[in-house]
Amino acid sequence: MIEHRSHYIDGAWQSSHGTGRLDVVNSATEEVIGSVAAGDADDAKAAVAAARAAFDAWAATPVTERAAYLTRAAQALRTRQTEVATLISQEVGMPFAYSNVVQTGLPLQSFVSIAQVALDFPFEEQVYNSLVVREPIGVVVAITPWNYPLHQIVAKVAPALAAGCTVVLKPSEVAPLNAFVLADVFDSIGLPPGVFNVVTGTGTDVGEPLVAHPDVDMVSLTGSTVAGRRIGAVAAQSIKRVALELGGKSPMVVLDDADLVAAVGAALNGCFLNSGQTCIALTRMIVPRARLAEVEAIAKSGVEAIAVGDPFDPATVLGPLVSELQRDRVVGYIRTGIDEGARVVVGGPSAPAGLDRGYYVQPTVFSDVTPDMTIVREEIFGPVLVIQAYDDEAEAVRLANDSIYGLNAAVFSADQDRAVTFARRIRAGQVQINEGAFNINAPFGGYGQSGNGREFGKWGLEEFLETKSMQLP
Ligand code: NAD
Repeated sequence: MIEHRSHYIDGAWQSSHGTGRLDVVNSATEEVIGSVAAGDADDAKAAVAAARAAFDAWAATPVTERAAYLTRAAQALRTRQTEVATLISQEVGMPFAYSNVVQTGLPLQSFVSIAQVALDFPFEEQVYNSLVVREPIGVVVAITPWNYPLHQIVAKVAPALAAGCTVVLKPSEVAPLNAFVLADVFDSIGLPPGVFNVVTGTGTDVGEPLVAHPDVDMVSLTGSTVAGRRIGAVAAQSIKRVALELGGKSPMVVLDDADLVAAVGAALNGCFLNSGQTCIALTRMIVPRARLAEVEAIAKSGVEAIAVGDPFDPATVLGPLVSELQRDRVVGYIRTGIDEGARVVVGGPSAPAGLDRGYYVQPTVFSDVTPDMTIVREEIFGPVLVIQAYDDEAEAVRLANDSIYGLNAAVFSADQDRAVTFARRIRAGQVQINEGAFNINAPFGGYGQSGNGREFGKWGLEEFLETKSMQLP
């Protein structure tokens, strides 16, 4: 059992004012593996006070020193990579081999990348008779989800610190254990007290008091669109800057000249990574009607070959969902899809054979869907793919853009230029062209109700900066 009774505030582990505990559950065994303190508004206040007090000195620290802290954090985190990947595989259910690469490998890269971005960044420029300077916005509250918990944390904390901001982190209450490792890491490298603080608790008890606090200058949330709406409303009372990375219902368009085996394979990977608990999951595959039967057959055999099971079995491709609540939500969506008349190509609402413990769901593919169906419109956040058919490219564009979201998309074609031309017509923050890989240095964020900010690279750093112009005589 891993028990954390304290919050990391002002460079020290401080006992929680809140008396409750939040259990952390192993998603494959359903056993409690740890607990964290359920903080309250007083814990939130103490953390903001520490971050405020540390701000002036940190903002005045040269960027070379701030970048050096990030590089040292990456080095210290690297020594704990296996431990963190193990924790996250237990908390979230992602197979360990993937966890090691994605859940801890990406945060390591982010630290290194942002350190370099900050060193290269033009914090000052002369514009005619004005000196324009970019300054840290101030105290930043970072609120993060459970699906890629450390990756989402570092995507905010690294650029905020590089910019000269101080941070209060409220990690997800579902997967909080990795955040304690990060606090340990910062402590071990001697980051000045108050520059980075962690308070655990629920969104209501800790998140909202942080968002409402008058000494907080900016809130950066990665989470659901429901939480984003509420946080935006609370933060608006004090005109804080708010950056939101929210949900998605991302399309993958297969053009009529595409290699179907490659495209469907990529669609299955893009939809089912982390058991579909991925904000950029490609959950709608949009295919030429003339090739629908072929696509369905390839998808069916592809899904039947996916090994579902224990995240620590090296053969496993798909682990359990994060929690009982999430499993029940996803199974509910599969049932709704059937009730609304969609056809199950493969999968279904019953638990995968032989897995009666752990929050497992069968990877499921639907066809014969219509654009108004719940499973086509709503983010399911589970291993559920829908196949939509189009008659011409104009219809493919319409279907791709027919969503309140706009986080991610993909286009497959034998002709890369044709795919790029098509991608320009898609309303989304990023578009994968054929096998194009995720890029930690490219801007990441959403159109529409997927959010309103950009993380990573210089765009991620700029989120945390204010702009001042000084008019010179
Ligand atoms: P969630 O919205 O339930 O919780 C996210 C965080 O917000 C948690 O720390 C939670 O405690 C906090 N929170 C919730 N309500 C709050 C409130 N009223 N005030 C302050 N804080 C509050 O989301 P989740 O279930 O943890 O994560 C899944 C969601 O996150 C999905 O919708 C997914 O698409 C989204 N997500 C988006 C991205 C992205 O980059 N766009 C990345 C990962 C996940």
